[in-house]
Amino acid sequence: MKHVNAPTIRVSEIFGPTIQGEGLLIGLPTVFVRTGGCDYRCSWCDSLHAVENRFRGDWEAMTAEQIWERVRALSGGNPLTVSLSGGNPAIQPLGELIALGHQDGYRFALETQGSVAREWFSTLDSLVLSPKPPSSQMSTDWAAFDACLEAAQSGPTTVLKLVVFDDADYAYAKDAAARYLNLPIYLQPGNHTPPSPDADDVIVDVPGVMKRTEWLVDKVIQDRWFSARVLPQLHVLLWGNARGV
Ligand code: SF4
Repeated sequence: MKHVNAPTIRVSEIFGPTIQGEGLLIGLPTVFVRTGGCDYRCSWCDSLHAVENRFRGDWEAMTAEQIWERVRALSGGNPLTVSLSGGNPAIQPLGELIALGHQDGYRFALETQGSVAREWFSTLDSLVLSPKPPSSQMSTDWAAFDACLEAAQSGPTTVLKLVVFDDADYAYAKDAAARYLNLPIYLQPGNHTPPSPDADDVIVDVPGVMKRTEWLVDKVIQDRWFSARVLPQLHVLLWGNARGV
């Protein structure tokens, strides 16, 4: 097949099917397309191998058709949900890939921090907007975030997902929820032992993560914040920091 002049997408990894480990679609069989490159550098990023420029050599420039062939092979042609993650997948041209997959009956979910809006957001099935709290040491451009919501319009099911490490993050999550009253909100206790991009043997402090989960549940219940859902990362509990699962 010829792919002359087709725009390419920087791909860090494609894997699955496995289950979605977090947020809106937790537990759902999914193939992951993880793109390379991110406009953020969160202090606790768990995907630095798909973020830092020094890993560019590991990323593959692929056309939408090439990615689609891989996803179809992994899923045996059985339509399922494809999760577009990163890095920040919004900085890649993914509209054609989504259109190709929809032709075959697949569904697409995308997670982004909400810093870059794309017209093709409206063609997604699910959009998880995950603005980064103070512990990430990033600051949120709410105008850019609003542009993402506008681009999605009434297309995908759109939710907010907030990682929470501490009280400041919790306050940020409450502010974000107050700002977007119509969006379902998912709170996720942070993993303070994220994988290192150079070694795959960093052991997750599961008791520590569970302690933070309990703390978060207590806060939500004490605050009578009954619209929030608290969910740990299922894949971290099952497989630690292993990649490709
Ligand atoms: S936005 Fe996501 S991928 Fe980018 S640095 Fe932050 S946690 Fe990592």
